[in-house]
Amino acid sequence: MRNSTELTINLGHLAFNFDLLKKRTPHNQTIFMVKANAYGHGILEVVQFAFEELGITEFGCASLGEAMAIRKNLPKINCHLYVFSDAEIQDKDYREQYVDYNIYPVIHCLEDLQVVLTDPDLKWLPLVLKFDTGMNRLGIAVDQIEAVIELVRKFDKKEIHHLVTHFANSYLIMKEGDKTHRQYHQFLQLKSEFEKAGITVANSSCANSGAIEQGFGLEHSHIRPGLMMYGPAGTGRSDLWSGKTISTFKTKVLKTMPIRKGTPVGYGGHVCGKDGYIAYLPIGYGDGFLTFFSGGELKVEDQIGKVLGRVNMDLTALYFETLPKDLRSGSQVTIWDDEKYDISELSTQMKTIAYQLFTSITGRVPRRYIK
Ligand SMILES: *Cc1c(COP(=O)(O)O)cnc(C)c1O
Repeated sequence: MRNSTELTINLGHLAFNFDLLKKRTPHNQTIFMVKANAYGHGILEVVQFAFEELGITEFGCASLGEAMAIRKNLPKINCHLYVFSDAEIQDKDYREQYVDYNIYPVIHCLEDLQVVLTDPDLKWLPLVLKFDTGMNRLGIAVDQIEAVIELVRKFDKKEIHHLVTHFANSYLIMKEGDKTHRQYHQFLQLKSEFEKAGITVANSSCANSGAIEQGFGLEHSHIRPGLMMYGPAGTGRSDLWSGKTISTFKTKVLKTMPIRKGTPVGYGGHVCGKDGYIAYLPIGYGDGFLTFFSGGELKVEDQIGKVLGRVNMDLTALYFETLPKDLRSGSQVTIWDDEKYDISELSTQMKTIAYQLFTSITGRVPRRYIK
């Protein structure tokens, strides 16, 4: 564990973001996506707060193990849990956990549907079906709808509990006739096919952050926000979503030193082209400060430090031509926060996405929760 590098999570900001979301989507129920350790923020703390303080009752995981961690560690949190991708339905031991722990698998292929319908232990499970409307990732193919209807009828199911699809491009600004619109059209058609066949679709959802921010796909019972709940806009556009980043990622300067042009620094002996200063930070790829941030820029006070040479496991060197005025050993350096150091800007600067910055933070970094 570190003492000098820390992720502070302001759950009050999560409350702010949810409040903002509810104002925009008063008619939708929310499946709050908490996969990947609640986008790096701590799945148990986030789920507990969201359930107890915000009244959110439905949560989305990617894997069965994530959902199991919630059930085992938060036995009093009586919420609905969905496993969206890594469902492990083909494994008998795993699939029984859905019934034992009251978790919903999101069924994304015919083979899994077959198993869920034929295993007598699983016949109590509500059917949550995900269709592939054009992302070509997971999901039952649109042209398999007849086969699905046949199976569902054969096993005497009257209802699809929740019909799901996922957009490939909703983070882009939408235009009539674009890919998201085409996916949405397919989704509406699927829904009506079921209804025509006399199978009720009790709930449905398609909108993730990018779509919600653009007011798209809200004509369904549910929405599935992830990133926007943690602050940053899925579209990257602060005019479309002004959430507060719920975490502050900060570290402290370990050492500063002047450096001469031509002096080799660190692994591989990277050389500076100019005289200047180095500030060493106690943060490296072992904390989630990734190697490809090398050469990237980090704002410190009102100056720009450049990540010099290789990022190490435990350390990073920042190069400055002149040292920021107050920067010395022990000075705080904020990597992102909800005010001055914007994570969306940083992610663009580091050639990645806010999702990855959040989820990269490793277990060595302590998470501290405030409200
Ligand atoms: C991750 C995920 C979401 C949330 O996406 P964001 O872009 O973070 O809002 C919604 N639905 C599914 C199926 C997902 O896997």
